[in-house]
Amino acid sequence: MADDLEITGLHCGYDGKPAIENVSMVVENGSLTALLGANGAGKSTLMKAVAGLITPYSGEVRFGGEVVTGWSARRHVEVGISYVPEGRAIARALTVRENLLLGGITRSKQDNASRMDLVLSLFPEIAERLASPAWQLSGGQQQMLAIGRSLMSGPRLLLLDEPSLGLAPLLVNRVFERLEELRKSDLTILLVEQNYWMTMKIANSAYFMRNGRIVGHKRADEMRSAEGQEDILAAYLGHGAETANAARSS
Ligand code: ATP
Repeated sequence: MADDLEITGLHCGYDGKPAIENVSMVVENGSLTALLGANGAGKSTLMKAVAGLITPYSGEVRFGGEVVTGWSARRHVEVGISYVPEGRAIARALTVRENLLLGGITRSKQDNASRMDLVLSLFPEIAERLASPAWQLSGGQQQMLAIGRSLMSGPRLLLLDEPSLGLAPLLVNRVFERLEELRKSDLTILLVEQNYWMTMKIANSAYFMRNGRIVGHKRADEMRSAEGQEDILAAYLGHGAETANAARSS
């Protein structure tokens, strides 16, 4: 229960139109849970609703047993829910150090100093670039900075939206290595990804989303089995589990 994220019957959208419907899921305390799905499936909408950036039409989000639905985005940050949006959203004109300190703006100087040490040991690539403006960093380094800035706020729940987006394969590997390190801490992580194979290696479990709905959930061991992968493919393609079962028995 501690820092579990529990989403129940969530309906959300824009201008009164639905983007996600009846979404229920649980992200267990200390787990790295993935949310996979094609473009437009509704993954970012779900993340924004959990971060308090959009207000759901109905349904409930609980974090650590407390209902947070309808709270302001600021209050979400105060209880330790931190969102790293798709596309990184760092302050490009500010230095790496300034970006990190912005992330810790609500924390004490002492807190910031120890968090900065932790972030820089996790991401040595950016430790070497503290005085450089953020725009000079490579795509992978900018992604590490965005995650590092989020960690500066001392989150209990990290919402990571497509950290591999637009990165060369080598940099994707590096970012995923660091996510695996983070998974070993007691942070609760919800990771949106389209990179199924990389995600499968580090996630404890994954939910699959299509057309605004959750269409499947698999534990890590199931994701790695041939049978589990057939189900996932079927869910992605929209044929449902029956198709996968039929394919297996033929
Ligand atoms: P992607 O992987 O491309 O980011 P996604 O799975 O994160 O996709 P969302 O961005 O949540 O999907 O989009 C879900 C639906 O909501 C889509 O139909 C999209 O067009 C719509 N949508 C997203 N943002 C807005 C917005 N600001 N205003 C109106 N409609 C939106």
